[in-house]
Amino acid sequence: MSTTNLSIVTPDGTVYEGEADLVSVRSTTGELGILPGHIPLVAPLETSPVRVKTNSGTDLVAVSGGFVEVRPDTVTILAESAERPEEIDKDRAQTAKERAEERLNRAKQEEIDIKRAQLALKRANTRLEVAKQK
Ligand code: ATP
Repeated sequence: MSTTNLSIVTPDGTVYEGEADLVSVRSTTGELGILPGHIPLVAPLETSPVRVKTNSGTDLVAVSGGFVEVRPDTVTILAESAERPEEIDKDRAQTAKERAEERLNRAKQEEIDIKRAQLALKRANTRLEVAKQK
């Protein structure tokens, strides 16, 4: 069976590199299941878990603020940040989640950047979901 070569890259370096049977990502317009030989495309991604099906199982990577570039035999994800389950500090993500939720709750009384808190909450929830695979 053919595979596609997946790279997930951040400004700090490569977080994931390997051969995949299927790469599932959440783009801003919906779920994309990318099989080898997929038509070329570029799409912005939601902050969300990326699922990678390989011959030895399924890997999860928490991806924030990224784009995917698909070519027939490669998939490249460029993201602001990305973490494998074992790299995620669950306590830190839980604290970030609570801080964002508290900011959103207070947003009614105070002038707080709601969009910024919503994005922080999304990053924390994505990390907590991926960290479950640890
Ligand atoms: P925090 O408020 O905890 O800093 P954040 O969502 O604002 O969370 P980011 O700005 O997305 O953090 O990330 C900054 C850097 O810290 C990135 O390199 C990211 O990979 C890393 N990082 C953020 N949260 C975690 C976490 N829970 N576990 C491991 N690395 C993390």
